[in-house]
Amino acid sequence: MRLAGLHHVTMITGDAQRLVDFYAGTLGLRLVKLTVNFDAPDAYHLYFGSETGAPGSILTWFEFAGAAPGRPGAGMIHVIELAVPAAPSLDFWQARLAGAGLEAARVAPERLELADPDGLALALVAADPGALPLAAIHPEIPAEHAIGGVAGARAYAEDPGGAAPLVTDTLGFVAGARPGEYALRAPARPVAWGYDPAPPARGLQGAGTVHHIAWACEDADQLVWQARVHEAGGHVTGVRDRDYFRSIYFREPRGVLFEIATLGPGFAVDEDPAHLGEALRLPAQHEHLRAQLEAALRPVVNLRSGAAAS
Ligand code: ZN
Repeated sequence: MRLAGLHHVTMITGDAQRLVDFYAGTLGLRLVKLTVNFDAPDAYHLYFGSETGAPGSILTWFEFAGAAPGRPGAGMIHVIELAVPAAPSLDFWQARLAGAGLEAARVAPERLELADPDGLALALVAADPGALPLAAIHPEIPAEHAIGGVAGARAYAEDPGGAAPLVTDTLGFVAGARPGEYALRAPARPVAWGYDPAPPARGLQGAGTVHHIAWACEDADQLVWQARVHEAGGHVTGVRDRDYFRSIYFREPRGVLFEIATLGPGFAVDEDPAHLGEALRLPAQHEHLRAQLEAALRPVVNLRSGAAAS
């Protein structure tokens, strides 16, 4: 039994529309689902990703309108790496971001670093995009340069180089050559995971910070993963039905909130694949709140439809 790579990464934003303009407009991802936080339905939950919203391409945000900026500290992810096909693609991205008035630093031939509108650190990296096509279609972005999924993520830790048996022995990550470096060699596509020394200041959850990271599993394997994490001493939750996948959660020993999410059923389960993310979708348990939520949530315009969805 192996994990199937990365499923999604979830962040916090203070402004959903600004996020859509950046991730869908500038970076060319597709807004594939506009729904609410299932545990607190008065807040949006937005999902961006590839054309089909494939696991491995998904970045999601909870919107808390006007949320104060947070900052990453020990036990929090501080950068997300997005894959582009090859180093020349970074020339394209550097020019495109400059054209949008955004700064990006070419810190290495194969790495371009920038911050999103909430201050979240991103890195575009030339990486093997894997066997799965994970890009979205955007009229201004040639397919050969399109972002092709999440390549990896890095977290701050008090002890970044120490042993991580939950990560290696339990979850099956392979330790890299340097301490604190890991890789998940999933069949479909590899994903990198790493720890860096934590800054002195404590982390603060807020806009621009990462809430959790989800690894993907085969639907039939989830209860076995749950048992395995429990046996390893992890405090793992019961299975939560997120409509588009099912999830279990636990904190890895350095403090990062991990989720293991099923590959299925996916984002087309409740709307036409040609119009993903264009209308506000509510889970059945919150559908009775629709009128109230549509009145309270700030409308979000999906750039594909041009229509406000709330
Ligand atoms: Zn999640």
